[in-house]
Amino acid sequence: MLLPEYRQEVLEKAQQTVIDGLAYGAGGNLSVQDPETGLIAITPSAIEYAKMIVEDIVIIDAHGKVIEGKWGPTSETPMHTIFYRERDDVRAVVHTHAPYASVFAIINEPIPMVVAEAALCVGGPVQVAPYTRPGTDELAQVVLETIGSGVSVLLGQHGMITVGRSLDEAYSATIATEVSARLTILARSMGAAPLAIDRQEVAELREMYLKHYHPTSSDER
Ligand SMILES: [Zn+2]
Repeated sequence: MLLPEYRQEVLEKAQQTVIDGLAYGAGGNLSVQDPETGLIAITPSAIEYAKMIVEDIVIIDAHGKVIEGKWGPTSETPMHTIFYRERDDVRAVVHTHAPYASVFAIINEPIPMVVAEAALCVGGPVQVAPYTRPGTDELAQVVLETIGSGVSVLLGQHGMITVGRSLDEAYSATIATEVSARLTILARSMGAAPLAIDRQEVAELREMYLKHYHPTSSDER
């Protein structure tokens, strides 16, 4: 079996999305790329996360061709592979229909950076890509254009996508985006206007995170 560790990582994070309240059933999809071979481990189409096993994860290349797997990859494969072809800094993609972030996706409003966690893991307001039909190359293109060099973007009337140098990093961006959305909605429900962190401070926090937040070996400490 190809890339067993990456398959395992994708499976664990896919199941984590249900635990964290970001997905129901088989909603959303995740992938990670092996830097050595360029191959990608990605969730299969239409299999519930709770019942998924490591053999169900599909191995594809950066053009979406199945290299190994008994199922087809997620129908939203184009918006994963476009990142591996177009962004050198991306090694993982997480797509969820996270409920609070999706509220902003349906009202077409960016999510502000209201807590330090968001500034660190996301680094700027999360913009909304215009609605485009799921599973299409057009959606992949719109997502890539709207996210720019960022890590988190909303898909109009659909959900959220985050990217990262690892699956852990992309997943942290998903959580931070969802937390920011939830807190903003809660603050507004109290009749208050939440304060976003100053733009310059967000940029500096983000730079700090990118420079220093990675696993360190003992001699680096
Ligand atoms: Zn979706």
